[in-house]
Amino acid sequence: MNVLVVEDSRSISHLIKAFVNDLGHDVAVAATGEEALQLFDPDTIDLVLMDIALPGIDGYEVTRRIRAQLGDKWIPIIFLSAQLGDEHFVEGIQAGGDAYLYKPVNGPVLQSMVAAMGRIGAAQQALQDANDKLQEMAFLDPLTGLYNRRGLLNHLEKEWGRARRNRTALSVLVMDVDHFKAYNDHYGHLEGDRCLEQIGETIAKNLHRAADVACRYGGEEFLLLLPDTAREGAIEVAKRIQLAFQEAALAHEKSPTCDHVTVSIGIAERGDEGGPEALIRKADQYLYKAKELGRNTWFAGDYTAASGLALIAVYAVAF
Ligand code: GH3
Ligand code: MG
Ligand code: MG
Ligand code: MG
Repeated sequence: MNVLVVEDSRSISHLIKAFVNDLGHDVAVAATGEEALQLFDPDTIDLVLMDIALPGIDGYEVTRRIRAQLGDKWIPIIFLSAQLGDEHFVEGIQAGGDAYLYKPVNGPVLQSMVAAMGRIGAAQQALQDANDKLQEMAFLDPLTGLYNRRGLLNHLEKEWGRARRNRTALSVLVMDVDHFKAYNDHYGHLEGDRCLEQIGETIAKNLHRAADVACRYGGEEFLLLLPDTAREGAIEVAKRIQLAFQEAALAHEKSPTCDHVTVSIGIAERGDEGGPEALIRKADQYLYKAKELGRNTWFAGDYTAASGLALIAVYAVAF
């Protein structure tokens, strides 16, 4: 552990340091309350031994400030004081201390108390770590390791705000596996799951920007969020992913449209109207358009893989 010893007497801090070092812990010493607050770092200090009578602000006040700085995080703070009397004990605990030992320092007692508090601190940290992990898992899809719907909606909310503030582009791709019911019926549900894993990998490998987010939005439906990306860029990503599925060539004997697994993609860019839900709805509508166009293709509103050139030509003539 990293232990912060707050003690204005050099001879006493020397002694305390020796006892704590003896347990194998590292020690930093602060000789005043102000110095203690400077040295205290919630990310690195695991335990504090706190004197009460100090030049400047006293140990109670330092403890209150440390507790305020820690917020939800907990580390043990042990008072070590020559002030006898229950009222000091009570005030120490009320200020945020966890234990109160009297001076002169008794080595074995101090060491036992540090060991006991260290055990509680370690248990607390393990609980916190498990909690953090659970929290993280709540936003992930266990099958593919991509974000789940909740994770995606979190990102979308943040990116939406950023795009609006900075006037930057934001695109969404909604992607659905073609004829996946036939895949499951033919190969079985387990193979279907394995296939979804590979689909997730193929998608993830073809997202090159750190800010891009991929999620498994539903059963065999995926959603990609592309910050700082306008429709043209999003179309490039869709093409790249469809090419990757062509190269991966995951066999799909029962697909009526292709001999391997393919995906259809709807592409929508954030516009001036509507919120995040409307953007997803639009991409979803375009996905069904891509399905109607024969699957294994993309649709982005005005133009699509098949008709792109023709429509651009029409625009050129019209304007
Ligand atoms: P389309 O090209 O129109 O999308 O056809 P489809 O068969 O993919 O569409 P449909 O929505 O009828 O079927 C989706 C199927 O995807 C249903 C189910 O068999 C399969 N599926 C959905 N979620 C899972 C999953 O978590 N695991 C597996 N193995 N299969 C799933
Ligand atoms: Mg003192
Ligand atoms: Mg579907
Ligand atoms: Mg499908």
